[in-house]
Amino acid sequence: MTLDINTLLVVTVANIVTLALVSPAVMGLRLGPAARAARWSLAMHAASWICMIASNFWPETWLDRLLSTLAVGGFAATHWLLFRALSNWLGPRRFESAVTALTLLAPAGYVLLFGDYAWRVGWANFLLAAQLALLALACFDPKTTLRGNWRLVVAFGMVSMAILTLGRGALGAFTDLYPSFLAPHPWNVAAMLMTNLLPLMVNFAMLGGWHEEAETALHRQAVTDTLTALLNRRGWVEVGQPLVANANRLDQPMALLMIDIDHFKKINDTHGHEAGDRALRAIGKLLLKNRRANDLAARIGGEEFCLLLPGSSVESAPTIDQRLREELPAIGAGLGFPISFSSGLALRQPGETLESMMIRADKALYAAKEGGRDRLELAAT
Ligand code: GH3
Ligand code: MG
Ligand code: MG
Repeated sequence: MTLDINTLLVVTVANIVTLALVSPAVMGLRLGPAARAARWSLAMHAASWICMIASNFWPETWLDRLLSTLAVGGFAATHWLLFRALSNWLGPRRFESAVTALTLLAPAGYVLLFGDYAWRVGWANFLLAAQLALLALACFDPKTTLRGNWRLVVAFGMVSMAILTLGRGALGAFTDLYPSFLAPHPWNVAAMLMTNLLPLMVNFAMLGGWHEEAETALHRQAVTDTLTALLNRRGWVEVGQPLVANANRLDQPMALLMIDIDHFKKINDTHGHEAGDRALRAIGKLLLKNRRANDLAARIGGEEFCLLLPGSSVESAPTIDQRLREELPAIGAGLGFPISFSSGLALRQPGETLESMMIRADKALYAAKEGGRDRLELAAT
């Protein structure tokens, strides 16, 4: 069986163009910056190959020089756009400036060295291979929460293509076995085959990244309270449960402070629901501001808030409550009406769960209300 390089080329380009056209139909036109960059990279790849093929109609003329330089620049830009996509999905990537420099150097060197086949082919392929290697590297060590296996698919594709491109550069630079990009040399056939498969893999991976991105955004919405931007009850339980379990395992102190705004119904009734919302936002901001790095703050119900305080003991936890209370007069002045809250404090007992701490804090909170409001009660053990 022989693979004919011309046929392979036609099929490859047809595939890339098809992928580039199908992508907007399936994914729609409104994309996040990462998926958008990945899509542009696909379109750039298709355009580059069209230039490359067109250049072949006027070999070694100024048109060849123009079109094949555009193709080389296009391939480099394809890689640059993919790098942008990865940076958007995975956070800042190393070697960003190197990838950008290679994007400019590859076509610049190619056009200047055009008169010397070995130099121009070696230059373009070696620089593109370097970009591909950096792209493979960029798939690892994510700085965001995105960790899907689609990254490994991209990495595998990039490493394979880097090796094949490196070999093609070597053939062109140091031998007579690669006189044109249509040379039937087995290595070139393998590279063309990979050129066919790589966009397929990258496109699938892009769908993976796109999906994981959407899933992450949805999850964040599902655990966030829209009014205050604190965690909602679902998020509170999801993050809080393992924190309590961890404190149990390490037998570290932990406190749970449950806060309920006093006579909140009256605030709504007297000043309007909108003023009530402003009050809720102000208390949310107060909790966020006074929270230490490891503390968890949530709005678990209408005007009820919870703080989970890892490391806080019977000595330190009440001072946090005190600190919050000291800011209430200023908040009331800002709102235009006074505001206070009652709170219940539960200190973790051996073997406790988040739920049992909440039950005890709630009882203490009830006692604080009974005792006249605007105060803190310590939960019974
Ligand atoms: P207590 O001091 O005993 O806690 O009295 P309270 O009035 O604060 O408590 P109650 O549970 O009777 O009333 C809570 C009110 O909170 C009732 C409800 O309309 C209001 N509320 C719940 N969610 C929201 C919200 O998102 N925005 C506003 N503005 N009000 C809310
Ligand atoms: Mg309440
Ligand atoms: Mg209340």
